[in-house]
Amino acid sequence: MNAATAIPTAFDVQRVRADFPLLSRSVHGKPLVYFDNANTSQKPAAVIEAVDRFYREYNANVSRAVHCLGEEATSAYEGARDKLAAFINATSRNELVLTSGTTQATNLVAYSYALPRLKPGDAILTTVMEHHANIVPWQLIAQRAGATVKAAPIDERGELIVERFFELLTPEVKLACVTHVSNVLGTVNPVREIARECRKRGIPLLVDGSQAVPHRPVDVQALGCDFYALTGHKMLSPTGTGALWAKKEHLADMPPFFGGGEMIREVRFDGTTFAEPPHKFEAGTPNIAGFVGLGAAIDYYQSLGFEAIHAHEQDLLAFATERLREVPGLRIFGEAAEKEPVISFLVEGAQATDLATLLDLQGVAVRSGHHCAHPLMQFFGVPATLRASLAFYNTREEVDAFVEALVKVRKLLM
Ligand code: PMP
Repeated sequence: MNAATAIPTAFDVQRVRADFPLLSRSVHGKPLVYFDNANTSQKPAAVIEAVDRFYREYNANVSRAVHCLGEEATSAYEGARDKLAAFINATSRNELVLTSGTTQATNLVAYSYALPRLKPGDAILTTVMEHHANIVPWQLIAQRAGATVKAAPIDERGELIVERFFELLTPEVKLACVTHVSNVLGTVNPVREIARECRKRGIPLLVDGSQAVPHRPVDVQALGCDFYALTGHKMLSPTGTGALWAKKEHLADMPPFFGGGEMIREVRFDGTTFAEPPHKFEAGTPNIAGFVGLGAAIDYYQSLGFEAIHAHEQDLLAFATERLREVPGLRIFGEAAEKEPVISFLVEGAQATDLATLLDLQGVAVRSGHHCAHPLMQFFGVPATLRASLAFYNTREEVDAFVEALVKVRKLLM
């Protein structure tokens, strides 16, 4: 990290913002208010520079080359695995399969772990609040195996009805899947408790950590789950990066999903043998530059510290929620007791997309749509919501600008 990106000890949001080049741009002549962080986060200069340095100074393929550049590239790529393993407190770096994101991670578990174990009549349990990446892979393999996908319900506040989840953990359930944090509601699920109940019944648990890792320290050992999927681009890293953490014994038992270079020990027409995990699951040339960036992103998070991040984000969440309640006709979706800074809402009499389009003209970036969570939209009986998702580099002043813009554009639509 260079002097320009040195981190203050106390959380100083203005200094932090100075680390993010994009935050100083304007949109439609207005200062940008970027509230679409659950979609993808912005990147600090430390990440951008790490990627730039890789291409300028040591671009080479990993693992195959013995030359200096190849060794430097391999060491940076494998170094990112070490950092990520420490970041989520994995017992070993070999438990971390580097993927293109959560979607690849859940699909890897679906095809390599679950499908070979599923029999007709079996089930996979998930919840109504999941992203499609934690629903559709299970449906695809259930269809092939003659199994079913069950969904545990939530309540009107957007909290998982945990007792119902436990009741649904019946003997035919061969895998349970739950999001750590909802990308639409911000709800934090009691993953430890869920993992404990799954363990009691001998049912493996997959946790979708996409929206948790950007906001809170994650300790996969303490959570007690079997699989933890995450995506890099929501945690300050380049797109096309992510990981599947899985317990060693699961990875050892899983056949490879993709075949090709990098994942073999010896290829013969009378029987190919495979590399040990995690390389067994990493066929082909990976997103090396992306993972170099992810390594820098983890350094950046650690220099800030999650305590400071959490305090600032929770302040923003409370402030934004309070300010939004002042807007006439506004309904918030997701009022769980424990939330990350994601606020979904609708304004009576206005279409979500119209509001988002008009907000954009005011410089405010929020997402409108179904947020890849159709079953959740069906639960609330709406086709779409607006979603303001905040990050530690956002400010109360931006919240004020957002609410003022919303009040203004709402009037245009009335
Ligand atoms: N799960 C959740 C909760 C998400 O928010 C997202 C991204 N919107 C995903 C999974 C999928 O992540 P990716 O597209 O990076 O694979």
